[in-house]
Amino acid sequence: MIRQEFFTAFQIVLDVYGDKNYPPVRQEIIFDYLKALSIEEFNNGLNAIVGNEKYPPMMNEFKQYFQNIIQTKNKNIMDSMAKENHCTKCNSTGIVLVKQCYGFADNAYQCNCYLGKKFYSHFPKIFLASTKQIN
Ligand SMILES: [Zn+2]
Repeated sequence: MIRQEFFTAFQIVLDVYGDKNYPPVRQEIIFDYLKALSIEEFNNGLNAIVGNEKYPPMMNEFKQYFQNIIQTKNKNIMDSMAKENHCTKCNSTGIVLVKQCYGFADNAYQCNCYLGKKFYSHFPKIFLASTKQIN
C-alpha cells in the first residue's frame, strides 16, 4: 500500500483509541513495518484489531496480527528472486561444499551470492577461488 492509503486507513485507530498515543513518528514506524501489505490486507487486520483490542495497539500488537502475512510475503519475494537469479555456484542453496584441500576437512561455506548472505551468515565466507566444489 502507499502512504496515503495507510494514513487514511489508520484514521480508524486514531478514532477508536485517541491520537495522543500515535505521534507522527510512531505512525511512520508502524507504516514502515506494514507497507508491504496490500490495503485490503491492512484493512482486514485493522478491523480485527479494532474489534479485539481494548487498549491502544502498539508495534507488538501490529506484529501479532500481521507478522505471519508479512513473513509469507517476504518468503514469496525471496522465492521469486531465487527463480529469477539462479546461482550456478551454489545451485541457489546459499551453501558451497568444498572438498578437502590443503589439510582442511570438507567444509561448507556461504556462497557469495545474495542467498548465501541472506540465509547462511553463520557459515564462514568462502575464500579460496580455486577449490573444487562437490555439489
Ligand atoms: Zn550462490
